[in-house]
Amino acid sequence: MNIDIITIFPEIIEHLFNYSIIKNAKDKKIITVNIHNLRDYATNKYRQVDDYQYGGEAGMVIMIEPVDRCLTALKEKNNYDEIIYMSPDGDLLTQKMANSLSLLNNIIIICGHYKGIDQRIRDHLITKEISIGEYVLTGGELPAAVLCDSIIRLIPSVLNDETSALTDSFQDNLLSTPVYTRPANYKGFKVPDILLSGDTKKIKEWNINKALEKTKLKRPDLYKKYYENNK
Ligand code: SAM
Repeated sequence: MNIDIITIFPEIIEHLFNYSIIKNAKDKKIITVNIHNLRDYATNKYRQVDDYQYGGEAGMVIMIEPVDRCLTALKEKNNYDEIIYMSPDGDLLTQKMANSLSLLNNIIIICGHYKGIDQRIRDHLITKEISIGEYVLTGGELPAAVLCDSIIRLIPSVLNDETSALTDSFQDNLLSTPVYTRPANYKGFKVPDILLSGDTKKIKEWNINKALEKTKLKRPDLYKKYYENNK
C-alpha cells in the first residue's frame, strides 16, 4: 500500500512512522508513506497556504490552490483509490472501516489545520472524510497517524502473526480476551490455570467465553450485534 499524506506540519507526523510495527512494514516494503509539505505547493514567495475566512469569522483557512496543485502533482504519478480529508465531522473511524481501507493500494490523506480547509476542496477534490472521534484536535496530523496505524497493522504480513489482528477488539463485534505473560504467579496474582494446561481446544473455548463475558459487561451494544450476526 502507498500512503501520501499532505500537511503543513510534516515534522509533527514524520517520526510517528519510524517505530515498531509501522517501521517494520516500511522496512519490509509492504507500505510506503510519503509526507508532503503543502507549503511546497504554495504560489507566493512567503509559501502561504492559509488565509482569512470570507465573512470575517475568526480562524484561518487552508487555501484550495496549493491543495489542488499538490493533488494534481500526486495524481500524475498514481491512481488513487481514495482521497481522504481528516475532519471531526467526517465518518467515524471504526475497525470495520479500517478493515476495508486496508485492502486499498493507494490513498491520499489531507490534514487540515486552523479552522479547517476551504469547503471547495471538500466539495470537489476529495472522496472521503474521516473523523477519529467526537472531539476537536489542533490539526489533522495525529488523526492521520491514527488512521494509518489502524490500517497498516491489518495489511497481510505486517504483523508477524496475522491471526493476532483477527482476535483484537471490535473484529466480529467482540472485545479482546484478557492476555497474560510470565511469571505465572506474581505476588499471588495468578494466571488462570487453563492457560497453562496446554489443552489448545479448551484454551480456545476459554478465550471465546472470556471475550463474550467482557463484551456483555462493557459493551452490551456490541454483544447484541455479535449475537444478531451469529444467529
Ligand atoms: N473548525 C473545525 C470544526 O469545528 O469541525 C475544526 C478544525 S480543527 C481545529 C483543525 C483540523 O484538525 C481539521 O481540519 C482536521 O483536519 C483536524 N481534526 C481535528 N479534530 C479531528 C478529528 N476528531 N478527527 C479528524 N480530524 C480532526
